Amino acid sequence: MSNVLVTENIQGASMNDLMKDLDVEFDAYLWQNVNLLKQKLADAQALIVRNQTKVNQELIDAAPNLKIIARAGAGLDNVDTAYAKEKGIVVSYTPDANSLSVAELTLGLMLALLRKIPEARQDTLTGGWNRVKFTGTELNGKTLGLIGMGRIGTLTATRARAFGMQIIAADPYLAADAPHLKELNGKLVSLDELLAQADVITCHSPLTPDTRRMLTYQHFSKMKPTACFINTSRGEVVDERGLTQALLEHKLAGAALDVREVEPPHQSALNQLENVILTPHIAAFTLEAQERVVDAVCEDVRLVLSGKPAVNVFQS
Ligand code: NAD
Repeated sequence: MSNVLVTENIQGASMNDLMKDLDVEFDAYLWQNVNLLKQKLADAQALIVRNQTKVNQELIDAAPNLKIIARAGAGLDNVDTAYAKEKGIVVSYTPDANSLSVAELTLGLMLALLRKIPEARQDTLTGGWNRVKFTGTELNGKTLGLIGMGRIGTLTATRARAFGMQIIAADPYLAADAPHLKELNGKLVSLDELLAQADVITCHSPLTPDTRRMLTYQHFSKMKPTACFINTSRGEVVDERGLTQALLEHKLAGAALDVREVEPPHQSALNQLENVILTPHIAAFTLEAQERVVDAVCEDVRLVLSGKPAVNVFQS
């Protein structure tokens, strides 16, 4: 049995070094086999996961020697942090390491939607040369509505400002005079105001009991018919059926989803819609972000297993 268990695909130079120095079992698919995972956890002192492994009470109870759960990524919705704390297990994560990559993908999706890049590519590959059909719109002068303006929302807004966009944000925990909002000449609005005013809406809230299925058909129906919706946060924040219905009824012009209600997703009507861009939860997958994430989790595992405090401890 190993000291350190890696249950998802988390690779890089620091992981190679960790494997040389410690007794590490690396199995990128172990998260899929909960029974085997529970057996292997019996002796483990460190567990390194991404977002697929559900580190719930059942799993934690199977790991009596566990000292650290290191989550390679930002969201901790797959880890029962309260129960880990109760058991004296350190939870470490990488809240900043991939924020920039997520913001950059969000901008990429924005441009792809407004300039119809995926559809134009597909048409051109099949022999078309339809320039007028793919007339798009500029970002300049448009209003970007951010649902959630924390790390990623702010990085996205900063980049959108460089494209000449106006910023509005709906965030129940943000003060109207927050310095980062002021700096971007942004305005705090209610969710309803945001839905009515924004030309591009992008969601950057965490997944919590309050935000689960927070965006439904009723919300998408309040958008401008010319507006687009982007989600690079967590799939469960959106009621996908409601979004699909709103798209079919042309309540909004298009959508881009990097994250889904179920991952990997089942076949869905969204796959058939031309004005929808679907990506497989790749926002954090850049070479730079992955290196930062892997470096950070490996460092924290080394620290905790040598009796020192972790750097990126989650404080509940
Ligand atoms: P953050 O904690 O810095 O910011 C989240 C913001 O959402 C905060 O300002 C918070 O006040 C706000 N918020 C909370 N409840 C809200 C609500 N009901 N309505 C609107 N806003 C609300 O988080 P972050 O690092 O910016 O991450 C944002 C999201 O991106 C998270 O869901 C995270 O899991 C996700 N994420 C996705 C990927 C990916 O690969 N697609 C990678 C990293 C992070």
